[in-house]
Amino acid sequence: MSDRVPAAASPMIGLGAPLQSSTCSRADCRAAGLWRLDWRNPRIHSTDRVKTWVACDEHVDYLREFLSARDFPLTVRPLDAQSLNQAEDGQ
Ligand SMILES: [Zn+2]
Repeated sequence: MSDRVPAAASPMIGLGAPLQSSTCSRADCRAAGLWRLDWRNPRIHSTDRVKTWVACDEHVDYLREFLSARDFPLTVRPLDAQSLNQAEDGQ
């Protein structure tokens, strides 16, 4: 017996999408991210469209200033296992 998953069950990409990596979003930086910056560009993004950058300790200020200089709505939070992956039961 096989259970077929309807296409409509596919999750939408966007809000709440899992981060692809936890490496710093700053170009040329491969440090592990310790912070997450959730932001959007009000000119091209609707209010439910949020992008997430990950920053290491060294670059969180750089990225925050980069975004705030453009008046983008921005939330900076510590990146932890809880925010990365809320389903930690199992493995
Ligand atoms: Zn970095």
